[in-house]
Amino acid sequence: MARAKPAQVSGNRYQMFINGDWVDSESEEKINIVNPATEKVIASVPKASREQTKSALEAAEEAQPEWEDLAPVRRASFLHQTAQLIRRDKERLARILTSEQGKPLFEARGEIDGAASNFDYYAEFARRIEGDLLPSENPRQSIMILKLPIGVVASITPWNFPSATVARKLAPALITGNTVVTKPSSNTPLSTLEMVRLMGEAGFPEGVVNVVTGSGSDVGDELVTNRITGLVTMTGSTDAGRTIMQHASNHLPKLVLELGGKAPFIVWHDADIAWAVKCAIWARFWNCGQTCICSERMYVDEKIKDKFVPAFVRMAKDLKIGNPLESDTDLGPMVSKEERETSMSFVRKARQEGDKIIIGGDRPQSPDEGWFFEPTIIEDVKQKSPLVQDEIFGPVVPILEVDSFDKAIEYANDSKYGLASYVFTKDSTRVLKAMNQIKFGESYINQVGPEQLQGAHTGYRQSGLGAEGSRYGLECYTQLKTCYVDWNDKPSLSYLFPYKG
Ligand code: NAD
Repeated sequence: MARAKPAQVSGNRYQMFINGDWVDSESEEKINIVNPATEKVIASVPKASREQTKSALEAAEEAQPEWEDLAPVRRASFLHQTAQLIRRDKERLARILTSEQGKPLFEARGEIDGAASNFDYYAEFARRIEGDLLPSENPRQSIMILKLPIGVVASITPWNFPSATVARKLAPALITGNTVVTKPSSNTPLSTLEMVRLMGEAGFPEGVVNVVTGSGSDVGDELVTNRITGLVTMTGSTDAGRTIMQHASNHLPKLVLELGGKAPFIVWHDADIAWAVKCAIWARFWNCGQTCICSERMYVDEKIKDKFVPAFVRMAKDLKIGNPLESDTDLGPMVSKEERETSMSFVRKARQEGDKIIIGGDRPQSPDEGWFFEPTIIEDVKQKSPLVQDEIFGPVVPILEVDSFDKAIEYANDSKYGLASYVFTKDSTRVLKAMNQIKFGESYINQVGPEQLQGAHTGYRQSGLGAEGSRYGLECYTQLKTCYVDWNDKPSLSYLFPYKG
């Protein structure tokens, strides 16, 4: 089995990785990558054609049987090696991540650690891809349920966690014997290309991992609609997930979709209020509000609103906005001008509706360049407002006052999304009520995230299909196969037919 070559990246001109080779676009078209803190172009990547995307899928298809044939512990050794190399290059990778995406460096370091841990965590499943051995209805027969690779996996990732989301897909797909073609977001492809460069160094055989860069509607669509693809695993917006589902209906690949969120954050009077304030800051302003599990609407008990809200506002005002590469920066820029404009348009509409903007709502006075946006807190918002119903995905949060815990749960569940939720209360009955009645795939109770490797990341309603993380995430990459085996010395059909054979 030939081994993939290490990356050829000349200066800041990146290439794609197809069948163990670093290649340009056939058309020589490229996509410029812009640092959101400076608005300067920092690199370029090729714009793949549909033909190139097809050839990546064909390479993955050809490499798959040999990859499947390796013992899982052998496959695991490539994953462990990748984790080690990611840790070796942590600082460099974190700086690249911050430069293309905008999150503060300390957050980027955490994300790189998370990416490495995903490779180790799933490598440890090499001895635990467990099927079932079941008794039969008949003597001397066995039933075995195997978990086999699906074949070729198409992985499609967003810009907000460009290292962690791709690692969370590649690691379980590969350990279970699948090969992969992955497509990063056009805003942040460098982190994926750098990770795959390390996978080349780790010695993955050629064709096992491929990266194509380009738009969702073209490269992404080819990945979804090509019959070679056995599973599409996509993390992104609910709208894109819906389009993928429609386009996939033609040849019906399996789908794992991790989509949008609108996390409710409930604070009750019996909570540790000072702790809840700190957690509320983290839950909303982490990654400048661009996280699918970010708190997107707060329901505050009327009894403590006058204590909680001013403390929350004070802490939000103290957040230091600035160059995300500097160590004392709390809040970097948003990823793009378009994303900032989307958040700003929510605030403009809120102003027109007469909602009370307590702080923020605009770009800060400094820095002069970059797509920065102030922490924005809005009060007296109605449950049916777009601020409460639609995903904002920026540092903007509406606060609603509620007078009963049941009402808070009812409001929390009144959403098309169902990904993450937060509840702060010290009362055990309320904790149990929240655990059972809040219909969201994740509940953080008296704590915040991020989600951990062993937890299942999954959503109700329009937040997606399937799961990521945990053994349940791993199982999404396997095909169940049931084998009925007869081991009678003298097999007989008598149990099947009402006559003697
Ligand atoms: P997006 O939907 O615009 O893009 C995500 C990826 O899908 C990109 O690579 C894009 O090119 C691709 N894509 C878009 N349309 C496609 C199509 N028709 N066919 C194939 N591929 C297509 O999302 P984004 O703006 O990059 O990321 C932000 C969104 O992602 C938010 O809604 C956020 O909630 C969500 N998100 C969800 C999770 C989760 O785990 N549930 C995690 C992170 C982000």
